[in-house]
Amino acid sequence: MDQPTPHPTPPGPEAQPVACARCGARAPEGGPPPTWTCSVENGTRQYFCVDCARANLRAIEGRLDSAWW
Ligand SMILES: [Zn+2]
Repeated sequence: MDQPTPHPTPPGPEAQPVACARCGARAPEGGPPPTWTCSVENGTRQYFCVDCARANLRAIEGRLDSAWW
């Protein structure tokens, strides 16, 4: 099942740089560390750094929209 692909797969959203949705801190290249929190809001995947995730742990666990903060 290893058919060669004629065209390289275009980079998807996963390949874009990840930044904290709250404070804007940049995640290291290669994706956010496992300590970051991923939250899907309105179909958009957002990441929060350790500090922001901890500060908003209750809100994230409650799956509240970030606009509520
Ligand atoms: Zn942050």
